[in-house]
Amino acid sequence: MHLLYPFAKRFIAGEDLPTAMRSINTLCGQGYWSTIDILGEHVHLPEQADAAKRAYLDLLQEANRMGHRMDFSVKLTQMGLDIDPEFCKRNVEEILQSAGNHTVRFDIEGSEHTQRIISMCVDLHEKYPNLGQALQAYLFRTGSDVENMIQRRVSVRLCKGAYKEPPSIAWQDMDDIRANFLQQAFRLLKEGHEPSIATHDEFLLTEILSFVEKEKIDPQSFYFEMLYGIRRDLQGLLRDKGYRMRIYVPYGKSWLPYTLRRLVEKKENILFVLRHLFRETVGLRRLN
Ligand SMILES: Cc1cc2nc3c(=O)[nH]c(=O)nc-3n(C[C@H](O)[C@H](O)[C@H](O)COP(=O)(O)OP(=O)(O)OC[C@H]3O[C@@H](n4cnc5c(N)ncnc54)[C@H](O)[C@@H]3O)c2cc1C
Repeated sequence: MHLLYPFAKRFIAGEDLPTAMRSINTLCGQGYWSTIDILGEHVHLPEQADAAKRAYLDLLQEANRMGHRMDFSVKLTQMGLDIDPEFCKRNVEEILQSAGNHTVRFDIEGSEHTQRIISMCVDLHEKYPNLGQALQAYLFRTGSDVENMIQRRVSVRLCKGAYKEPPSIAWQDMDDIRANFLQQAFRLLKEGHEPSIATHDEFLLTEILSFVEKEKIDPQSFYFEMLYGIRRDLQGLLRDKGYRMRIYVPYGKSWLPYTLRRLVEKKENILFVLRHLFRETVGLRRLN
């Protein structure tokens, strides 16, 4: 699978903390905000979850030393949700206790975990108001989750959703997903607490920008969020218009599942990988 690394490098800020920190510093110098994700998910051994928690604690220490205010994206299946929810909660609480001024946000994973992730967020948010939650516009349930998060003043990141979900619980058609995205985004922009609008979809961004202008929404009351390495043109454009642009910066050695999700999102990505594999194979044959 190392053959995929040239592709993965477009989407991750490196495999270790010092390399990732260089990218984060560069982004900060260019006027971007960051949310940092240490890659990893679906761990089944307590020592793996423990190692992931320690990596976040090291990262927080480094962030405090640098003095930038940051957001940290955490996957609960990386913290041991599938091993034992209480063990997972203790791991996350250690991170939250060290987070101080920074915000921590639960990524939203596949639907077999949705309810457990949201319940843990709601539970912990009472004690840690700096905890936020990501939600997926493709799920039918998201309208009521958005309502719940608005009532509780939980900061929401709204994205379309990156997992394969069945038609019994999720819209499959892009027009339906976009319609729900806009409905929830408009609510969050008017009533939400520091929401972030996480998409690279130009249609959605155009609709959102005209809503923000029409409703005179303060550009400093929300964030746009995009993934590291994707649509840098749009990232710069929104930043230059005076919006807060936050970049989701993943790093770490467990880059494969994240990379595979990025791979299937765009057919050109599959062609890029195939071209690369073809060049490598033909190149090797020529040299032999
Ligand atoms: C900041 C952030 C956080 C996220 N967090 C989560 C999460 O917690 N849980 C979750 O399920 N999903 C998450 N996602 C992923 C999200 O759900 C979508 O899968 C992803 O953003 C693609 O959807 P899109 O809205 O950008 O629209 P799309 O229609 O997929 O893309 C719009 C345009 O963006 C560009 N683009 C998009 N993806 C790629 C790619 N992989 N490679 C190259 N170009 C691309 C293309 O130009 C494309 O035409 C997150 C996304 C962002 C931006």
